[in-house]
Amino acid sequence: MSKTNATVVIVGAGAAGLTCAIAAAETLVKESIPGQVVLLDGAKHLGAKILVAGGGRCNVTHDVVTPQDFFGQRTIIRNILASFSVERTTSWFASLGVELKREETGKLFPTTDSARTVLNALLDRARDLSITISSDHRVGEIIRSNSGFHVQHNQGRLHTTRLILATGGRSLPKTGSDGFGYRLVQALGHHVSPTVPALVPLLLNRSMFHTTLSGLSQKTELITVVEGREVDRRTGSLLWTHLGISGPVVMDASRFWTLATNQGVCVDLYGNFVPGRSFDELKKWLIRETIEHPKRSLVRTLSSLVPDRFAESLCRFCSCNPVTILTHVSRMDRHRLLSALTRFRFPVEDHRGWNFAEVTAGGVPLDEINYRTMESKLVPGLYLAGELLDCDGRIGGFNFQWAWTTGWLAGKSAARSLFSATTPPSSE
Ligand SMILES: Cc1cc2nc3c(=O)[nH]c(=O)nc-3n(C[C@H](O)[C@H](O)[C@H](O)COP(=O)(O)OP(=O)(O)OC[C@H]3O[C@@H](n4cnc5c(N)ncnc54)[C@H](O)[C@@H]3O)c2cc1C
Repeated sequence: MSKTNATVVIVGAGAAGLTCAIAAAETLVKESIPGQVVLLDGAKHLGAKILVAGGGRCNVTHDVVTPQDFFGQRTIIRNILASFSVERTTSWFASLGVELKREETGKLFPTTDSARTVLNALLDRARDLSITISSDHRVGEIIRSNSGFHVQHNQGRLHTTRLILATGGRSLPKTGSDGFGYRLVQALGHHVSPTVPALVPLLLNRSMFHTTLSGLSQKTELITVVEGREVDRRTGSLLWTHLGISGPVVMDASRFWTLATNQGVCVDLYGNFVPGRSFDELKKWLIRETIEHPKRSLVRTLSSLVPDRFAESLCRFCSCNPVTILTHVSRMDRHRLLSALTRFRFPVEDHRGWNFAEVTAGGVPLDEINYRTMESKLVPGLYLAGELLDCDGRIGGFNFQWAWTTGWLAGKSAARSLFSATTPPSSE
C-alpha cells in the first residue's frame, strides 16, 4: 500500500470538509506556504447531502443567524458563529459565483434554485486551488504518533501533521455519513455525547386520525414536556402525514423527544391548534357563538379557527358528531373538544429514523475544541468541523451555516498553524 505525505488532510468532503479544504488551500497560497491539501471521502459521488438539501434547492443559510437558532453550548456557539458571519458567508459564495436570494421566511437559496450550483462552485474552487479530492477513499483508522497522524484508508495510507475531521453525523447514512467518524474521533481520545436523530418526522399511534388528514398543514403551537417540566415551546406549521406528523414545527421540536426517549425518561408532546388562545378564552368564545348562532354545526363553528378537515376529525376523535348544532353540544363534550383543541397530547410512538432525519443531535462536546481555531484541546494538530460536533440547528439553513463557519475556521487555522510552525522565532 502506498503512503504519502500531505500538508493538511481532511476526512469528509461534505459542506464542512469542502469549506475546510478551500480555506486551508487559500491560506497556504496567501501565506506562501508550499504544501498540499488532500480531501478524502468514502463516498463514490461527492456532495450527496448538499444535492438533496432544501428539496434539491439547498437552503444555504438564513439572513439572520443567532446562537438561539442552535442547540448546544450557546456561549461557544456564539463565539464560533462570530468568526464567519452570514454576511461573510454570502459574500464568500458570491466570490465563488453563487448568488443567493432571500425568501419570505428569511431562508437564503441560490438564485438558480439548484443545489447543483452550490456543489459545483465548491468543487470548481477546490480544483482551481489544486486540492486533491479523493472520492471512494474511506478512512478506517487513524493512528497518532510523535510525527503526526497516519490516516489509513481503503486505497492506502497518508501521513500528515494537520488533520481535520469533517465526517458529519449519522443522518441519511446512505450518503456516507454513517457515524463512523465518531469512532475515529473517539479512538483519538475525544468524547461523543449520545447521538439521536433531530429534524425528524414523528410517528403516531395507528389509532390516531392522522392518516385521514395526510397532506394537510396547519399552524400549531407544540409544547414538549419532559418528566413534567416544559422544555420547549414553539409555533409553526405542522404537517399531517400518513405515518404521523412532520413540518417545520415538528422537525424543530423532534430533538427534545428523541433525546428524552434515548435517555429513557418520560416525554409528552402537546399541541395547541389555536396558537396564542387558551382553553378559557376559547370556552368564552364557544359560549358566545352558541348564543349568537345556536343552529350552527359544531364543525362549521370550529372551521373558523382550524381547517375543516381537521375540525371534523377532531370532533370524531372526541366522540362528538361534527354536525351537531351548537345548542345540543353538552358541557362535557365542549370541555373535551376544547381541551383537545388547546392541549392535544400526541400519541408519539417513535421517530422516523436516521434515513429521514436531517441532522444529528449530540456529538463531540464543544468544550473539547478551541473555539478560536476548531483545534482539539486534547490532540494537537487535530481539527474538527461540521455536524460531527455537538451542535444542531433548527430548520432554515442554520445547519449549513454551522458547516461553512466551522469548516472555514478549521481549514484556515490548520493551514495558519503551519505558517507559525515554519516562521523562525523573532529575535526581539
Ligand atoms: C434531506 C436533508 C436535507 C437537508 N437540508 C438542509 C438545508 O436545506 N439547509 C441546511 O442548513 N441543512 C440541511 N440539511 C443538513 C445539512 O445537510 C448538514 O447539516 C450538513 O450537510 C452537514 O455537513 P457536514 O459536512 O458536517 O457533514 P456531511 O455533509 O454529512 O459530510 C460528511 C462527509 O464525510 C464522509 N465520511 C464519513 N465518514 C467517513 C470516513 N470514515 N471516511 C471518509 N469519508 C467519510 C461522508 O461520506 C460525507 O461525504 C439537510 C440534511 C438532510 C439529510
